[in-house]
Amino acid sequence: MTPPNDYTVSVPLALVEDLDGPALHLRVDDCAALVEAADHLPWQRIREVTLPSVDDLPALEAYYGRVRWNLWWKGFDVGRLLDLLPALRRQTVTVLVAPDDPDLYDKLVVGESLSLNMAMPLTDPDAIDLAALNSLVSYVLITSATRPVRIEPLVSMVKTAADREDQTLWDFAGENVHRNLFVDDAGRVSISARLADTHPYGTLREIKSGEVESSEAFRRLDGYAEGLFRDQTECSTCRAFPLCGSWLRYADPQYDCEVWQLVLTSLQDAVGDAERARALARHR
Ligand code: SF4
Repeated sequence: MTPPNDYTVSVPLALVEDLDGPALHLRVDDCAALVEAADHLPWQRIREVTLPSVDDLPALEAYYGRVRWNLWWKGFDVGRLLDLLPALRRQTVTVLVAPDDPDLYDKLVVGESLSLNMAMPLTDPDAIDLAALNSLVSYVLITSATRPVRIEPLVSMVKTAADREDQTLWDFAGENVHRNLFVDDAGRVSISARLADTHPYGTLREIKSGEVESSEAFRRLDGYAEGLFRDQTECSTCRAFPLCGSWLRYADPQYDCEVWQLVLTSLQDAVGDAERARALARHR
């Protein structure tokens, strides 16, 4: 399969050879398998690699500078994090914490205070502890008033609200319909792991060059926002729509997004208040 040029394709290590295309995101379950295959991989096309554990990074030292590295932090062993600090502090490394991790808030804040790039991948609206999300939004807003913060996608969400950029949870979740493709372990192509089962575009074997965008699942995703306004859904008048883009309700139109809505609108309001305060200060 040769995907269109603008896409980044997330692909498991075992299927990387079945794909042409300019930008790959390699998902690796077993670091030893990556080390074994490393000399034969198309590094010029690989933009980032996700590894199962922060402990895997030292084994890839010879390849550090080639790509961005995403490493899951499982458990809550701060001592181990400190041992790995020199390698983890590289600009090209991001430490990932799962959105359903019971220590989500503490881990992101501890890692960030150690000057690590931290991220909580948006995988599924239900997977996130909303109380922790709310606390993290407050942490990012308060801390970013005095120094740069490194917790994604929250920093990007605040920046988007401040600069009125045209980005939504779809982008922050890596589900931009015109930029992201996902190949699962069985070779099915879709936009993401979240929608791989319910909205597949086809399989690597079925999809020939340029055919992704003619699949029914792609067209449904592409026309989704337009349909929300045409049908005058609740999302079309929701104050959180500029940040949400109805990402929360794509898989389940009945999804109860009330708490999310509060978190997103309070983030927008807090950013607006801060901007107004700065503007007032400039005119005094
Ligand atoms: S917060 Fe809920 S109602 Fe608002 S845009 Fe998102 S999904 Fe729609």
